Amino acid sequence: MDKVLAAWSLKTINEALNIHKHLANTGRSWDDVELYLKATARNKTAFAAERLNCPECGAQLQLLPVNNSPATQTGDDSRSVWICRGCFYEQFSTKTVKEETTALSRSGRGIG
Ligand SMILES: [Zn+2]
Repeated sequence: MDKVLAAWSLKTINEALNIHKHLANTGRSWDDVELYLKATARNKTAFAAERLNCPECGAQLQLLPVNNSPATQTGDDSRSVWICRGCFYEQFSTKTVKEETTALSRSGRGIG
């Protein structure tokens, strides 16, 4: 295993293992992670605008659109989701990313 995992630090391997377990517990796969990363790259400008912290672990939440493509179907009427990359906390919203952003700005919690 030393050679197989030589490219990564123990910390990174441990984090990957945690992600793997969490994915299994939530019925998701690394394919879902790949889709998430692609969606994240596509929507970089959309979620970069706002800053909210995770109520679970305090990390910065990201705001992503959902139900706007075949890869982001949630099976409900959500339009966006706040996601924590630290602990995988998720909070879905029926507001669009733009509406969420606007609401945050009005409340004074956002930056823009
Ligand atoms: Zn978190």
